[in-house]
Amino acid sequence: MSLAADDSATLSGLCRLRHDWTRTEIGALFDLPFPELVFRAQSIHRQYFDPAEVQISTLLSIKTGGCPEDCAYCPQSARYDTGVDAEKLMALDAVLAEARAAKSAGASRFCMGAAWRSPKDRELEHVCEMVEAVKGLGLETCATLGMLTAAQARSLKRAGLDYYNHNLDTSPEFYGEIITTRVYQDRLETLEHVRDAGIHVCCGGIVGMGETRADRIGMIATLAALPVHPESVPINMLVRVAGTPLADHSPLDPFEFVRTIAAARITMPRSVVRLSAGREDMSEETQALCFLAGANSIFFGPKLLTTGNPERDRDRVLMHKLGLCPMQ
Ligand code: SF4
Repeated sequence: MSLAADDSATLSGLCRLRHDWTRTEIGALFDLPFPELVFRAQSIHRQYFDPAEVQISTLLSIKTGGCPEDCAYCPQSARYDTGVDAEKLMALDAVLAEARAAKSAGASRFCMGAAWRSPKDRELEHVCEMVEAVKGLGLETCATLGMLTAAQARSLKRAGLDYYNHNLDTSPEFYGEIITTRVYQDRLETLEHVRDAGIHVCCGGIVGMGETRADRIGMIATLAALPVHPESVPINMLVRVAGTPLADHSPLDPFEFVRTIAAARITMPRSVVRLSAGREDMSEETQALCFLAGANSIFFGPKLLTTGNPERDRDRVLMHKLGLCPMQ
């Protein structure tokens, strides 16, 4: 497909918020010549965001390892021998110290992750105390704690939680190849509880897990069909961790990763799209292409739960080279 004379009309048409994207339409985006796809994504990006701004989040594992779930990509599952030991929930003071450090390093959002299938109510009380205290530092708060009941989501909202992360991971069809201890519908229900409680939704997925392009299209279609688009859409490149079932998977072509980012940007134009896990092994050029394709958020800091992330100085240099600045 070439850039037609009436393309500006096409672009403004694409810019309307839609929840009825078909897989065929999203497939057609993936099939576009790469420069045109990136151009369209960047053009839409500019209608909603300052293209020089990147939202900065920091992620801390507040309860590491020992998870009963069997997510095939995850080093924190108790089922895989990955060298990650199960730890207890962190103390409030230690979490606050990390949050202060994240704020002074430039983060505007502090995300707290716990390796649970779902939190027990007593555990949730502790997390609520953390949310309240981190919020008191002037940071936006985010948590990822597994499946929630409606009442638990309301408790987190009362504590001041701004965002809840709960990824759909992949397409509904491929989900069972990656996780067998829960079903797609469980994810959708938690997302509904979070949305109903008035908490912003952070929801995306992981690519490079052996899924087909049709699965990547299916994942984007499912996200874009949610009644309200997630405010934050993390797109992760699989980090292949030794000991997990996906450790020896062949890496995904970086251009396909950029195409996935562009499809997320075009179909969910108001959402912040996060270039999430997998950046440590990604070239600066690939990351720059992701920003061109509409990614406008990163995790900042050398660790993402238990896997590596670029050192802060490396990211500062990249942001400087690209003329990007933190979103306020
Ligand atoms: S991704 Fe989350 S739910 Fe799945 S094994 Fe890891 S910590 Fe548990």
